[in-house]
Amino acid sequence: MSADFLAAPHIEAIPVVTPFIGPEQLMREGGHASLLRLGANESAFGPSPKAIQAMAAELPHLSWYGDPESYDLRCALAVRHACAVENLCVGSGIDDLMGLAVRAFMSPGSVALTTRGTYPTFGFHVTGFGGKLETVPYRADGTVDPDALIARAAQLRPAIVYVANPDNPSGTLLPEDEVARLFEALPRESLLLLDEAYADFVAGMERGAQPIDSRLLRMRTFSKAYGMAGARIGYAISAPRNVVTFQKIRLHYGVNRNAQIGALASLADEAFHRHVVTEVAQGREDYYSLARSTGSGYLQSHTNFVCMDFGSNERATAVMNALLAHGVFVRKPAAPPLDGFVRVSVGSPAERLEFAGRLRAVLGELAA
Ligand SMILES: *Cc1c(COP(=O)(O)O)cnc(C)c1O
Repeated sequence: MSADFLAAPHIEAIPVVTPFIGPEQLMREGGHASLLRLGANESAFGPSPKAIQAMAAELPHLSWYGDPESYDLRCALAVRHACAVENLCVGSGIDDLMGLAVRAFMSPGSVALTTRGTYPTFGFHVTGFGGKLETVPYRADGTVDPDALIARAAQLRPAIVYVANPDNPSGTLLPEDEVARLFEALPRESLLLLDEAYADFVAGMERGAQPIDSRLLRMRTFSKAYGMAGARIGYAISAPRNVVTFQKIRLHYGVNRNAQIGALASLADEAFHRHVVTEVAQGREDYYSLARSTGSGYLQSHTNFVCMDFGSNERATAVMNALLAHGVFVRKPAAPPLDGFVRVSVGSPAERLEFAGRLRAVLGELAA
């Protein structure tokens, strides 16, 4: 037998991990016929009925590639964000677009900086590309720490600083003036990548896209408030120069044609969008009440999920595992100071009620 053929050294050096254990795998392994699906911040409210209709009507044309320029969608997005079509690049979700950012603005061996324990996909792109990911901790209250990022960036001069805002898994928001202060204080050679996957849930932030600067990349998605996670579509807002840069390296047929159609129809359905945002706000309130009535702390969230505090990593892990045994899929942050929390996506009203019952049962069992 010949020796194993090896991947590139920087890939061989990466440990084999399954960063997102999906509910499908949990069902296979645990023998569950179904799970209460509150672990991946999917929308409980689905895509807009108008989007479903538009996509269904176009399904027979799935033999066609999508428009490689996503032109109609970019025109609608330009109206929504009061920017130019040239400021927009559509990709198959933020996860895809972050890979473009890494390939465009990093070189093998260069450094990127983020918060330890934040949304991990950016980091996977960095290490997979042969870059080095450096981190600073959250503040004790679970918010992103701009001062720590600024201080570390001054030492490291990173190619990219990544901030999810609102943040996942904490759900916390860095106010606009703090983001502006961070942007101004970073070294001129550092690009600020703002992952705004949850911006649609923040009043005043849904449309905002200012400033548009070539040192700044904002990313948005149809996966969360628009309920189209499985369709895989998102976009970047930046200076035209960066959109042209992405044009050099992106997959020109990487965006699902049906997703383009659904996204465009979703944007036109403002009433449905408002309905989802209102429902999600109510769902957060329900979870805060549930946390208070079960004696748990929680973080004020600006997203479609809430982080509940169970006091320690051990107890949060026990709660998460017991919930799974009761047929509930949730996740928990791995890194301090959030490792004592469990993250629960806002479900439909019926799912929230179901979750409340199962959480109470689990806490009762753990107390016994
Ligand atoms: C869900 C999520 C994403 C993924 O977005 P896609 O457009 O589905 O790739 C990216 N960033 C954060 C912070 C998220 O929570």
